Amino acid sequence: MKKKQFKAESKRLLDMMIHSIYSNKEIFLRELISNASDAIDKLYYRSLTDKKVKVEKEDFRIKMEVDKENRLLIVEDNGCGMTEEELEHNLGTIAESGSFTFKQEENQNKKDVDIIGQFGVGFYSAFMVSDEVIVESKSIDSEKAYRWVSTGVDGYSIEECDRKIVGTKIILKIKPDEEEEKYSDFLENYRIQNIIRKYSDYIRYPIQMEVENRHLKEGSKDEYESHVETETINSMIPIWKKNKNEITEEEYNNFYHEKYMDYEDPINVIHTSVEGQVSYNALLYIPSHASYDYYSKEYEKGLNLYTSGVMIMEKCGELLPDYFSFVKGLVDSNDLSLNISREMLQQDRRLGLIAKNIEKKIKTELEGMLEENREKYEQFFKAFGMQLKFGVYNNFGMDKDKLKDLILFHSSTENKLTTFKEYVSRMKEKQEKIYYACGESISKIDLLPQVEQVKEKGYEILYLTDYVDEFVTQTLMEYDGHQFVNVSTGDLDLDSEEEKEELDKENKENKKMFEEMGKVLEKEVTGVRFTNRLKNHPVCLTSTGNISLEMEKVINAMPTDEKIKAQTVMEINAHHKIAEKLKEIYKKDKKSFDQYTKVLYAQARLIEGLPIENPTEISSLICDIISK
Ligand code: ADP
Repeated sequence: MKKKQFKAESKRLLDMMIHSIYSNKEIFLRELISNASDAIDKLYYRSLTDKKVKVEKEDFRIKMEVDKENRLLIVEDNGCGMTEEELEHNLGTIAESGSFTFKQEENQNKKDVDIIGQFGVGFYSAFMVSDEVIVESKSIDSEKAYRWVSTGVDGYSIEECDRKIVGTKIILKIKPDEEEEKYSDFLENYRIQNIIRKYSDYIRYPIQMEVENRHLKEGSKDEYESHVETETINSMIPIWKKNKNEITEEEYNNFYHEKYMDYEDPINVIHTSVEGQVSYNALLYIPSHASYDYYSKEYEKGLNLYTSGVMIMEKCGELLPDYFSFVKGLVDSNDLSLNISREMLQQDRRLGLIAKNIEKKIKTELEGMLEENREKYEQFFKAFGMQLKFGVYNNFGMDKDKLKDLILFHSSTENKLTTFKEYVSRMKEKQEKIYYACGESISKIDLLPQVEQVKEKGYEILYLTDYVDEFVTQTLMEYDGHQFVNVSTGDLDLDSEEEKEELDKENKENKKMFEEMGKVLEKEVTGVRFTNRLKNHPVCLTSTGNISLEMEKVINAMPTDEKIKAQTVMEINAHHKIAEKLKEIYKKDKKSFDQYTKVLYAQARLIEGLPIENPTEISSLICDIISK
């Protein structure tokens, strides 16, 4: 028997497989099973047009067999088989085979590991786990059967062999164990079953294996006996390919628990089948709670990607936008090819189309939930609302319009969360702006001096309690033509003409006094003035620039060296008795005036939830004032 040489490209690929340090070696089984399934497909289609080919669909199967003693793993199919020429051509010149498009020049600079990881590497991947590979095959077109044998790069041989039934048997001689890789695992039933369920669960033909099961002995209550039984490992019909009305909620949920490691039921299931430019089925789940790692760097978004029942990518991130990264599930499209590299796939137009459709679908689903089942939506929002908010201001607000109606906030008048749309629908006749206030909690915001006037005028205020909230309103800037205004910033323009005039007069008259206070608080504030925005409180801080006091707090709490400062104005209640007291003391007691100014400012910071930088000084100032 003459040894034949592999073609050059095949040789290089094969060499790579043999010396592979690729850690995900288990995929070899996926590749062999997928070849077997293709071969059965071919024979079946042949039978449809060729009367001479007689097959029963029910007889098709892929058989797995293990011979531990001789370290053999066998994959056998009853598909179309290969003639001598086909063995020679298909297995001797892999680089030319159907869908494998390995180009040596393009990949020269890449590490081998990358290449194996990126491609479905087909038949040769068997060499990642085997010393020797034997293929015995009888083609539907040949009277004789042939055996192809190879131990690797030094070539292969083909000889006639004894095989009566049409089909192919692949015999792998599993490598001895090494320190880094326990190849013997691939001879364990449980491991083989796991791999099959993971990658090939939805292959349309049964993948069978003899399994030893223990049963109670007939007539006995405690004596067991073992039976060897043929079991089908794969479930064959994917749940997502079934008709929606054939699937119970329980089935959907069970599938979710099993595949996505969540013990709780999902809050929503989206099951769609799309025919068009690109056809696909998708089964998507919205979890009811965020997993422990969801808001961490470790979390990896993505949907599992299948083609014709074979999984080609776990967690394909391109299928989900970041703001919907909580969605779990899968997409199955026959339009994508099995052997396509990750990089090529990422650029695939069809994948982009699927992703776009899926995004729309998720959004519509969430909108529906918001409208029809508020309680459920709020539960969802509690878990993932933060992610939607990130989505609004990420990428310079590129997606803000898609998400703005999905976001909820607390409100000063409603006992429940509210959308911007609902807020606008409740706006008072002449109200132009959307008011909001920031703070740690509803109760704390309620006590903020700055909300007093707005509330008294009868306007609703959105209560922003998450640290990201204000980034949302700042990114959106307006909703439905109504500008967002922080009640703690600038001029709210709520005063009547009369009130304004009076306040202006007061501020002008006391200009010198405020300048004096400004000097005392030189590093802290950009100005001091009287205000009408307060009712009972003596003093508050407002900001004038783009950075609000709340943002100052949030940004400065981040672990960066760069600290920022809002442009702060101290506002004093023009109608509070403290106003009169200040005027009086300004005229007669310069020292006390400076002290009062400092204490007032410290109070304002405390109310705002900001730290005081000089607590001991303030404390002794207060003592001074008390003991006067
Ligand atoms: P691909 O499946 O991407 O074409 P492979 O390297 O896996 O590449 O296989 C090469 C070729 O060998 C296949 O295209 C097919 O024609 C043939 N082949 C592999 N396994 C089988 C099998 N079990 N039965 C029949 N033909 C097979």
